[in-house]
Amino acid sequence: PSGSEPAAKIVINLERLQQLPADKAGPLARYAAAIQSQRGDYNGKVLSIRNEDLRSLAIIYDMTPGDLSEQLVEWGVLPPEARAMRED
Ligand code: C2E
Ligand code: C2E
Ligand code: C2E
Repeated sequence: PSGSEPAAKIVINLERLQQLPADKAGPLARYAAAIQSQRGDYNGKVLSIRNEDLRSLAIIYDMTPGDLSEQLVEWGVLPPEARAMRED
C-alpha cells in the first residue's frame, strides 16, 4: 500500500455512532445511513465501508484520512486496531 490511505478494512461501530452528539457525528451518521439504505443493510451492529468512503468523509470533515481515522478511534467508532492502519 502507498500514500496516506489506510490499508485495513474500515468497520464502523453503529451503536457507538448513535450515542455521539450530532454536532460531532452528524456527517458520518448521515453517510453511514445512506450506505445502509443503498445496500438494504439495516440490521447490523457494524458497517463495513469502502476505503474510498473514508477519503470522501475526510474531505467532509476537512481532515486527512489518517487524522479522521484517529478521531474515529478516539470516539470509539473504529476499534483501536484501526490506528495501526495509519500510514501517513
Ligand atoms: P467480517 O468481514 O470480519 O465480518 C464479521 C461480522 O461483522 C459479520 O458476520 C457481520 O455480522 C458483521 N459485519 C461486518 N460488516 C458488516 C456490514 O457492513 N453490515 C452488517 N450488517 N454486518 C457487518 P457475517 O455476516 O456472519 O460474515 C462473516 C464473514 O463472512 C465476514 O467477516 C466476511 O469475511 C464474510 N462475508 C460476509 N458477507 C460478505 C460480503 O458481502 N463480502 C465479502 N467479501 N465477505 C463477506
Ligand atoms: P455498485 O457500486 O455498482 O455495486 C454493485 C454491487 O457490487 C453491490 O451491490 C455489491 O454486491 C457489489 N460490490 C461492489 N463493490 C463491492 C465491495 O467492495 N465489496 C463487496 N462485498 N461487494 C461489492 P450492493 O451491496 O447492493 O450495493 C448497491 C449500490 O449501493 C452500489 O452499487 C453502490 O452504488 C452503493 N453502495 C453500497 N455500499 C456502498 C459503500 O460502502 N460505499 C459507497 N460509496 N457506495 C455503496
Ligand atoms: P470486502 O468485500 O472484503 O472487499 C475488500 C476489498 O476488495 C474492497 O475494499 C475492494 O478493494 C475489493 N473489492 C471487493 N469487491 C469488489 C468489487 O466488486 N469491485 C471492486 N472494484 N473491488 C472490489 P473496499 O472497497 O475498501 O471495501 C471494504 C469493505 O466495505 C468490503 O470488504 C465490504 O465489506 C464493504 N463494501 C464496500 N463496497 C460495498 C458494496 O457495494 N456493498 C456491500 N454490501 N459492501 C461493500
